[in-house]
Amino acid sequence: MEIPLSIAIIGGGPSGLVLARLLEVNGITDYVIFERDQSSTPGPNEQGGTLDLHGDSGQEALKRAGLFHKFSNELARWDAACFRLLDSTGETIANFSDVGNRPEIDRLQLRRLLLDSIPQNKIRWGHGVKSVERRESEGRTVDDNGCLIHFTNGSSATGFRLVVGADGVWSKVRPLLTSAKPEYSGKLYIEGKISHNNPSYSVAHELVGPGNMLVLGDQKTIAVQQLSDGHYRVYFGLVAPEDFYQRKTSIDPDSSEATEAIRTRLESSNEFFANWTPCVKAFVENAEGPFRPWPLYFIDPETVGWERSAASGVTLLGDAAHASTPFVGEGVNCSMYDAVMLTECLVSHCGTNTTLANVEELKLEAALAAYEEDMFARGQDLIRRSDESGRMLFSENAASLTLQMLNGEPEDETVKR
Ligand SMILES: Cc1cc2nc3c(=O)[nH]c(=O)nc-3n(C[C@H](O)[C@H](O)[C@H](O)COP(=O)(O)OP(=O)(O)OC[C@H]3O[C@@H](n4cnc5c(N)ncnc54)[C@H](O)[C@@H]3O)c2cc1C
Repeated sequence: MEIPLSIAIIGGGPSGLVLARLLEVNGITDYVIFERDQSSTPGPNEQGGTLDLHGDSGQEALKRAGLFHKFSNELARWDAACFRLLDSTGETIANFSDVGNRPEIDRLQLRRLLLDSIPQNKIRWGHGVKSVERRESEGRTVDDNGCLIHFTNGSSATGFRLVVGADGVWSKVRPLLTSAKPEYSGKLYIEGKISHNNPSYSVAHELVGPGNMLVLGDQKTIAVQQLSDGHYRVYFGLVAPEDFYQRKTSIDPDSSEATEAIRTRLESSNEFFANWTPCVKAFVENAEGPFRPWPLYFIDPETVGWERSAASGVTLLGDAAHASTPFVGEGVNCSMYDAVMLTECLVSHCGTNTTLANVEELKLEAALAAYEEDMFARGQDLIRRSDESGRMLFSENAASLTLQMLNGEPEDETVKR
């Protein structure tokens, strides 16, 4: 007999997939994931970057999921924890051969690892959520929290005890809990690629090696990082309007015309990289398109939180709850750890090897309250630290401030704009 599905996880990103895997591990199997993507095969523009997993969060999540051995032995790039810091004149300010326990994994490899760890029939591809409606009194029963999920494909689903929004920055579940909305940070990245046959490849190989490089100064950044197949991703960080990439143009953003238009702006304007040293500027000249814009958003930390009484049977994980700018490189780590904490709280209040359908509402709500108390504090802290780091990285004197920070020295300079 098929068991009714009691838990709807909206979004199959790192946080949603870790939650699904941890539920499996703990014998809570009455869940389903609704994912917007059409299939597990990444689209041509979804090659992703690389993520470093931290010991006490991302790695801990994989340990509890029983996936650390495979991660560590087959996928983790332990030698990628090297880091070079340059200023905008191209001078190396610091070159760390090992910044600690921070192995890298391609974003797509992490997704594959997690997807392969749960039964494939637990994920409904092509189910982008359009909205979630709460039918208060008439829709609510012991087995149903009253949420009616509307999908962009025209279908809908209901009858869940628990709905978990793990659907990222633009969460469609969040409005059930809070009026908080993502705000544009004023900063964006433009992503390009340096393949093996690119004229800048040998320079990248020499300067960046298997790890990461950051060039900082004049309120701009260039980040270069190697992926598992040896190619490099390059990110041009700018202080610019949210619509910088597509402003005043009807050109297809994936076209070579769009890439060249942006390249020309980045290369030729002193506002951007025109007066940067040639060896660094060459990354702008040679980066391959299609360029991908990443306007960076965050949620005001003061608004991360809601009353449990207003949110029965609904919660959020990861960026959906606490979207932050990526300037401390912890977003995915924090999101994966949310899934650890939510599972731990569910297990301690509701038990293992159970279906959520059998659990008393008071116990479920106590589990969610305990999870959220911890998650709100970690999420708020992450957003604040990322914002502070962004101010430093995009300052005039970013390279020297970053060096002080990396060396653990007290700041003897203030952020200059
Ligand atoms: C440029 C950039 C660089 C970053 N670098 C790092 C880094 O180095 N280290 C780090 O720790 N973090 C980094 N981050 C942050 C990190 O990517 C996020 O914090 C992390 O991916 C959040 O995971 P998540 O599962 O909560 O959300 P997401 O990764 O956003 O996953 C959400 C999932 O939900 C799906 N979805 C979205 N909307 C819907 C919908 N309406 N219906 C159904 N499904 C939906 C999506 O397709 C996706 O699968 C970076 C972020 C950016 C933008």
